[in-house]
Amino acid sequence: MSTQVPQHILDALTRVEMPPVPAAQLSPETIAVDGMELPLYRCGMAVIGSGAAGLRAAVEAKRRGLDVLICSMSLYGGTSACSGSDKQTLHTAGTARSGDDFRKLAAAIGGGGCMDHDTAYIEAVGSINALAGLQYLGLPLPQDRYGAVLRYQTDHDEVGRATSCGPRTSRLMVKVLAEEAIRLGIPFLRKCEAIRIITAGEGDQRRAVGAVVIDQERRDQDWGLAVVLCEDLVLASGGPGELYRDSVYPRHCYGSLGMAIEAGIAVTNLSESQFGIGTRRTEFPWNLSGTYVQVIPYIYSVDAEGQEHNFLADYYRTTQELCSNVFRKGYQWPFHATRMEDFGSSLVDLAIDRESRAGRTVVMDFLRNPQPGADGKAFSLDNLDADVRTYLENNDALQETPIERLQHMNPLAIELYRMHGHDLATDPLPFNVSNQHMNGGVAVDAWNESSLPHCFAVGEVAGTHGVTRPGGSALNAGQVGGLRVASHCAARGSQVADKTFDQELSQAVSACAGLIRSGLKSHPNALAISAVREEIQGRMSEKAGFICQVDELPPALQAAQDLRRRIWQAGLAITRPSQAVDIFRWRHLALTSEAVLATLVHYVGLGGGSRGARAYLAADGEVTIHTRHGPLSDVRYRVEKPEHQQFKITVEWQGDSFSLSHQALRPLDNLDRIFFEKHWGDYLTNQIHHAAYTHAP
Ligand SMILES: Cc1cc2nc3c(=O)[nH]c(=O)nc-3n(C[C@H](O)[C@H](O)[C@H](O)COP(=O)(O)OP(=O)(O)OC[C@H]3O[C@@H](n4cnc5c(N)ncnc54)[C@H](O)[C@@H]3O)c2cc1C
Repeated sequence: MSTQVPQHILDALTRVEMPPVPAAQLSPETIAVDGMELPLYRCGMAVIGSGAAGLRAAVEAKRRGLDVLICSMSLYGGTSACSGSDKQTLHTAGTARSGDDFRKLAAAIGGGGCMDHDTAYIEAVGSINALAGLQYLGLPLPQDRYGAVLRYQTDHDEVGRATSCGPRTSRLMVKVLAEEAIRLGIPFLRKCEAIRIITAGEGDQRRAVGAVVIDQERRDQDWGLAVVLCEDLVLASGGPGELYRDSVYPRHCYGSLGMAIEAGIAVTNLSESQFGIGTRRTEFPWNLSGTYVQVIPYIYSVDAEGQEHNFLADYYRTTQELCSNVFRKGYQWPFHATRMEDFGSSLVDLAIDRESRAGRTVVMDFLRNPQPGADGKAFSLDNLDADVRTYLENNDALQETPIERLQHMNPLAIELYRMHGHDLATDPLPFNVSNQHMNGGVAVDAWNESSLPHCFAVGEVAGTHGVTRPGGSALNAGQVGGLRVASHCAARGSQVADKTFDQELSQAVSACAGLIRSGLKSHPNALAISAVREEIQGRMSEKAGFICQVDELPPALQAAQDLRRRIWQAGLAITRPSQAVDIFRWRHLALTSEAVLATLVHYVGLGGGSRGARAYLAADGEVTIHTRHGPLSDVRYRVEKPEHQQFKITVEWQGDSFSLSHQALRPLDNLDRIFFEKHWGDYLTNQIHHAAYTHAP
């Protein structure tokens, strides 16, 4: 930053205090099941989760007059409230020199393929409203003196459509949305976890009617079991961060994908995730993108004897090439197989992975410039690729050391680690390549409704992203999705659920209580949760991470299937009633892990090749990666077939196995045939909300 920013301003953007949420003043009915008297909460819309997506859905629905209840496992937990990077990104229509074009923005959002064309356009168009609503609530997005929002270029973004309030952008989003929810009087069940979706009806009539929950605020009574009955159930529970050992998600992100799968809801694109460099969950999980790498710190590894290795010098040919590619990870943050070629920026990720597998710890040192590369030339700011040099010059960032450059460009980035006990100005920072985002998830239509009517999904739990996503599009998708769900349910005239569904509620509650009782009794073969966690996370990181060996996937799927069957037969053991929630978390994650592996095996079985943030290595791989020493014979990756971008792989649970199918991408109608007078009536009569609605002339 060219202007010296006072400490109190930096503090306000990093130490973000969240508003206290009062206990809900509700008078629930009660329901008698299996000798228990449980609270029953009735509402119009139940929102499961209080991240940025769920809060947006709740606030927008309440403003439209719906009766909303928020149930959240952890009020300010989840990725929106707890995650970030050097500056978190929101991706929206920009102020590019010639103005933005929604079609071009949609093309960028869906650029990696496997994304519904209508959804990409909806997210492009919706970004304006999503952003404006947040500004209206007080989100401090930076502006120039003309009122234009300041922008920069981010991952998978050629134009520069990203903006940010600093490293805690999404936390600030949660803050302003929570303040609004409190102002609007929306009741929160503040420590309440949904564990099972309740359905009613058969065949075409089957629909969601609510959820069984565990309310930790009253867990002394029947383990906290309670029932929420609603007209519309909105899953806003975030991504399954606990699926991987090497994960940059905050702790305790379970999501609810497994719960949705168990209810027979279709999920899609589960093979697509994002991986990149970040600090580990054992310390402080944070993305090392943007300025952290644009200041070009020295990256090296340390072996068991404490010996330092300048390992990147074994991969790149010159100091200039090495340093320029470290810099480029700033806006090419997610791993991408093709960027390993020609000494590109993803070779950094591959090299880090190989060092980690060799048992070395990889660190970033901001006190030292990179050591000389293979050509022996010393680091110099005059010896960088032109784009890199220009960027640093434009930002007046030509100071001598990385820490001085970081202090100049983004002091908040230093402040953040300091807040979490690590001073970048004194100590090197250990990091690795981690799982960061699930691009797939619950399959939804253009109004975010799932294959189970009256059950919606917004935010990361929705499988709306394709193979790649521009940085910041996750937050945008959650905001746009929240708005869409609210407007759709309001248009349908969503009322407070008035039916009783006695039988369905009893069955669902009994099934959950049965699992808890048998967990407490500890069947002799019951599995320990810690062992299940270790097995699932280890397998996912080692066999289904960003580097996948094709021939290791089928045995990994088999092992995941065996584990899930053992859990189903013998159950999960718990020693204390307060652990009851863990039974459902790990049952569901076992199912999710099996679904991800089933999708991966299916995809490689089609001959699928490397795409997004996964490289599929095989002896018959068409591309061999080269380091400066020559080809790496064990890194031959399969190339993606373009036709595989034209469909989504969708998975449905059949009770003991998955059925997989291919869904064609939903098209976008001919936008040139939409005219004001012709289509105004469709809006006024809510026709635009009908499933069969089409713009076709
Ligand atoms: C390190 C990191 C950096 C990132 N940077 C960016 C970025 O710069 N730009 C961007 O667009 N995206 C980024 N992302 C992704 C983005 O932050 C997430 O996709 C987004 O915040 C998800 O929001 P959400 O509301 O869907 O879920 P979350 O914010 O995770 O909220 C989920 C909520 O659901 C609750 N919950 C979960 N399960 C249950 C249950 N069963 N019952 C009740 N409640 C439940 C949780 O307690 C939480 O309140 C980043 C992610 C990470 C990990």
